[in-house]
Amino acid sequence: MVGSAIVRYLNAHGYQNIVARTSSELDLRNQEAVATFFADEKPDYVFLAAAKVGGILANNIYRAEFLYDNLIIEANIIHSAYQNGVKKLLFLGSSCIYPKMAPQPLKEDYLLSGFLEPTNEPYAIAKIAGIKLCEAYRSQYGANFVSAMPTNLYGPNDNYDLQGSHVLPALIRKFHEAKVNNQEFVEVWGTGSPFREFMHADDLAEACVYLMNNYDGEQFVNVGTGDEVTIKELAELVKETVGFEGELRWNTDKPDGTPRKLMDVSRLHDMGYKHRIGLREGLAATYQDFLKNEEVYVS
Ligand code: GDP
Repeated sequence: MVGSAIVRYLNAHGYQNIVARTSSELDLRNQEAVATFFADEKPDYVFLAAAKVGGILANNIYRAEFLYDNLIIEANIIHSAYQNGVKKLLFLGSSCIYPKMAPQPLKEDYLLSGFLEPTNEPYAIAKIAGIKLCEAYRSQYGANFVSAMPTNLYGPNDNYDLQGSHVLPALIRKFHEAKVNNQEFVEVWGTGSPFREFMHADDLAEACVYLMNNYDGEQFVNVGTGDEVTIKELAELVKETVGFEGELRWNTDKPDGTPRKLMDVSRLHDMGYKHRIGLREGLAATYQDFLKNEEVYVS
């Protein structure tokens, strides 16, 4: 989702010589394959968006894969970027790097100030390692490697698998299928009380290119909208967007996860970047994209 959004943005804004690989073309967990790719292509600028990602259930079940895959992808790419003289690299982390009970909104300074949320601790540890790799390669080798921490994202090419996905694509699919099948209700996980912030992938892509062009600092930067909704409000909004008329049923056997993770985006705003796409508008566009690509997304 994020990689394709960055490529769309770059293509639409006149950037050329974009080199991309799908995961079936290049397995980023393979150190030798990554080293060969960098030696052959010699990229100047690298957006490191590749990661193993998933929702609350997948993170909690596939704990080894979320830790191992993400650590090795970051280590392989960051080291190869350094060895091949990459001019600048932008590493993408996640808002789940912050402690579960950190004060809100989450300031960049709160990293490593408390215990992590247990459901996604392996993913968070890997992402924290990515930040530290960028800082260490900057400090020891003078590499211009910067990091951005995006909030929860959604948009074209999201994962719609109900066991693996995040809440927003899961709800689009569940409400859509409930409408088509005339179901009485849709099951939603947890209590509905946690707050989440959502950013459209096209806004994130624009922010990434903005940071690539304008930011060279060691301190990582939060990327988000600064707006939040409860899961209950999100579910109502998806229900309305899709046009489902039945009811919501809350399955409290499923975990809530972090109670709140609202990004403090003042650093990004002070630099001159602000998102454009509001949740209602972004959700409507994403539902249209889902309808167009349903066969690909739901297979
Ligand atoms: P998180 O932000 O890392 O916690 O990941 P998710 O996006 O998977 O979950 C966010 C919140 O939405 C949690 O409180 C979930 O329990 C809740 N949620 C409600 N329904 C669903 C669903 O169908 N799928 C997922 N993934 N989460 C859901």
